Formats: sequence, structure tokens, C-alpha cells
Amino acid sequence: MTLLKIRDLRKSFGGLKAVDGLSFDVQQGEVLGLLGPNGSGKTTAMNLISGALRADSGSILLGSDELVGMAPHQIARLGVARTFQLVRVLGGMSCRENVEAGMAFRPDHKFGAAAYDEAMALLDTVGLREFAETPAGDLTYIDQKRLELARALALKPRLLLLDEWLAGLNPTELQVGIQLIRDLRAKGLTIILVEHVMDAVRALCDRCVVMFAGSKLAEGETATVLAQEEVITAYLGA
Ligand code: ADP
Repeated sequence: MTLLKIRDLRKSFGGLKAVDGLSFDVQQGEVLGLLGPNGSGKTTAMNLISGALRADSGSILLGSDELVGMAPHQIARLGVARTFQLVRVLGGMSCRENVEAGMAFRPDHKFGAAAYDEAMALLDTVGLREFAETPAGDLTYIDQKRLELARALALKPRLLLLDEWLAGLNPTELQVGIQLIRDLRAKGLTIILVEHVMDAVRALCDRCVVMFAGSKLAEGETATVLAQEEVITAYLGA
């Protein structure tokens, strides 16, 4: 079943076509890798899906809802959650409060003890339970990333957008991060993963879309796509 259907999506900045006629589908329950060299339009595409940017034209259907033209909070209410390339936690608030803030966009958002219990369970999922009352700003970089994931999950997303969530982790942390995402996939969550760490792409992505200069260069099953000559050439910049 198709969860997200993107058709002929376009976004320019001045004369620069950052996303230039992009079309692809995301199936319910899959992890889709969105790949491509720097500047190919991946982050712009993620910003268009989450509503941080408004498309010039084209369509983004989540189920039967058209996302183009909606505000970010409306898209969040439909169950699209994201993490950012540069971590954005609320540094002065505790980890638990950060996660509770993530629930606020949910149509069924909770208060009091129910919110507390759910936030603690989410902190447990990402391995941060012991830091529940620690200010988010005091966490290490990897732990802030975990917290950002917990906050995104607090939305109970139908679609999770992970923008280089695994970047900057050491090899041990990377294995933990990959396992965390695997567990989410096993629970049936649909994920779009923008990622440069190829071991993670191979380990996690069912399919990949490769962008180049705002357009789709390749699409298909991960191993097949990564073996394609034009994909290798695009990455090497040859
Ligand atoms: P990627 O995520 O694949 O590295 P981006 O989506 O960040 O690519 O960028 C695509 C292109 O759009 C790049 O040339 C980038 O410089 C440009 N771009 C992205 N955001 C903006 C912006 N807000 N204003 C102007 N140009 C932008």
C-alpha cells in the first residue's frame, strides 16, 4: 500500500532549481533511502514534505491528503515527524519535557500522568530513561540525537523523516543507531532516510531514490541501485 505519493515536485531558489520535477512513492512500512551528492536537493525535498518549505508546484499525497499548501503544524498533525540535520532540542527543558512537547501536535495529545508515562516509555526506547530530568542542553551530541528521535516518535508518526540522523556517530554509536531504526521498522513505521553512511543505507533501506541536481537519477531495490554505474559516477563526481 502506498503511503506517500510525490509527483512532479518543484522548488526553486531564485534561478536555482533545487527540486526539479521529483516523483516517487513510499510504501507503507518501508524504509526508503533518499540519496545523492551534496546539493542534489535531498534536504529541500524533506522540507517540502514536512511543510517547512512550500513547493512551487507538484503534489505530495499522504494517503488521500494533499500536503502541498499545508502549514508544518497541519502536516505534523497528520502524522509526519522529522529530525533535523542539526539537532534542535529545547536545551533549557528536561528530556522528559522535550518529549512531552513532541506530543502536543497529536490530535489525541495527553496531559499529566498519562503524558509522563508515555514520555518515560519513549525515553526508554531510545536509551535515555536515566536522563529524564536532565536539561536537554546538558546531553552529549549522540544523546541529543536520541532525544530528538524520541520527540519525533512522540508524535506517533505515520511517516518519519530522518535527515542524516546517523551522521557524526562513532562506529559503536552507529551500530546502536542502526539497531534503533531497525526496531522502528520492525514495528511497522514508514521512514524516509537521508543518509550518507552507506553501511547504514545497506543495512536499513528496502529501496532507494537517488537524486542528482534536483531530479531522480535512480530508484529501486537498495543493492541494485547502489551497483548502478550512473549512481557510482554521481557520488564520485566524475
Ligand atoms: P542536499 O540536501 O542534497 O545537500 P539541498 O536540498 O540542501 O541539497 O540543496 C539543494 C540546492 O538548493 C543547493 O544548491 C543549495 O545550495 C540550494 N538551497 C537549499 N536551500 C536554499 C535556500 N534556502 N536558499 C537558496 N538556496 C538554497
